[in-house]
Amino acid sequence: MRRQRRVKVVATLGPATSATEIIERLFLAGVDVFRINMSHSSHDTARALLNSVRWVAKRHRHPIGVLADIQGPKFRVGEFTGGRAFVNDGATFRFERAEKPGSSESVHLPHPQIFAGVEPGHMLLLDDGKLRMRVTEKTKDVITAEVIVGGSLGSRKGISLPDTLLPIGPLTEKDRADLAHVLKLGVDWIALSFIQRAEDVLQVREIVGDRAALLSKIEKPSAISDLDAIIAASDGIMVARGDLGVEMPVERVPGLQKQITRKARAAGKPVVVATQMLESMISSPVPTRAEVSDVATAVFDGADAVMLSAESAIGQFPTEAIQMMDRIAIEVESDPSYDAIIHATRTAPQPTGADAIAAAVHAIADTVKLSAIVCYTATGSTALRVTRERPGLPIMGLTPIESTARRLSLVWGIQSVMTADPATLTDMVSKACRIAFDEGFVQPNNGVLITAGVPFGSPGATNMIRIAFVDEHGAPIAEVR
Ligand code: PGA
Ligand code: MN
Repeated sequence: MRRQRRVKVVATLGPATSATEIIERLFLAGVDVFRINMSHSSHDTARALLNSVRWVAKRHRHPIGVLADIQGPKFRVGEFTGGRAFVNDGATFRFERAEKPGSSESVHLPHPQIFAGVEPGHMLLLDDGKLRMRVTEKTKDVITAEVIVGGSLGSRKGISLPDTLLPIGPLTEKDRADLAHVLKLGVDWIALSFIQRAEDVLQVREIVGDRAALLSKIEKPSAISDLDAIIAASDGIMVARGDLGVEMPVERVPGLQKQITRKARAAGKPVVVATQMLESMISSPVPTRAEVSDVATAVFDGADAVMLSAESAIGQFPTEAIQMMDRIAIEVESDPSYDAIIHATRTAPQPTGADAIAAAVHAIADTVKLSAIVCYTATGSTALRVTRERPGLPIMGLTPIESTARRLSLVWGIQSVMTADPATLTDMVSKACRIAFDEGFVQPNNGVLITAGVPFGSPGATNMIRIAFVDEHGAPIAEVR
């Protein structure tokens, strides 16, 4: 089954979309990768969702990616007497290590790491930034703060510290258990929340090895400061605009989105734009014009994927939201200005054989009228370098490795098909033609561009390009025209 767009769609599963038939419907509507949010899913739920996705993938013989999103270190205040308290603007408020019920003057804070990291002058944001305070004093047991924006604060509401580099790793106890579980289930991508530095990613890599690819969520100022190293350490990046817009002034998010997208693209790592893309579709069958424009912007920026969160997890119109993303993407990608915009943000190839081949593939695709690029790829690295160029043709990834096919489902333009490595060069050409023909990527008398690293089975060496034309039976035509 062939998609008509190059940007990918990620949809979060949740109570509204946990039945297998619904997951199948969402896949048919356009979902390329399903996200399981471990902040809200039990181990049993995660297993059931994964099994459903695998069943749908098998039934439609189409690789579908599964992304498990790990909650990460999220901090919360303690309990208030009566469930909440009103905190006045300009008041003094205390966070205490001592465990006692909160009031309009103080609350318990059950995180010693915050006491270790915070300094006078740092901002404290509560309940997704609805309340704001500035630290005036800190002792071993009490943080005193001046309330800048007050309001009603409930028990167990979140607290974030945008200015504080916290002495914590990327995983809590819960995260470690969740990670072990989803690795055992065999998910394809792991998303890491609230990471602060590249070291956090490397630490998780120690545990994960090559069992799954790592997607780093950029949602903290400290992660922005270490962005280049985080991108280098990760397999992919998420612009997590929800928490990013809490920890940073919300008006900075659009510029940061562009910067992160551009850097990830330059590195050849897939980048996902996430959160509130079609927010109003949680309860409305049609989006706002601003939301349509937001999805379009991500597509024009050359993001690899756009993501739905609550829209598909708990919304009333999950299928409509996916169809809407699909339609926006198809329209943008066929807009006359699309090619020029997407190539204006392209960066030069690295001085490697793989990048030279990828740039040549791009140039050939612009020169000869062909129908598709067929990339033989074992680890996915050849396909990633080719797609980094954002060439103007569909890209087929042919791979003998199922996990490669599934991981590539997140990546711009690549549609993977599982196949054994060809034995000879002749076999390589005829197989590429046959699969492109059978999957509807090429019509008789049209051609494909084939890239591979030969000999097969020695990964890392993309070293050849072939052009082949296809006859009415899907076999290669002997002469090159
Ligand atoms: P979340 O991450 O949905 O897990 O919070 C995305 C974001 O913060 O935007
Ligand atoms: Mn988040």
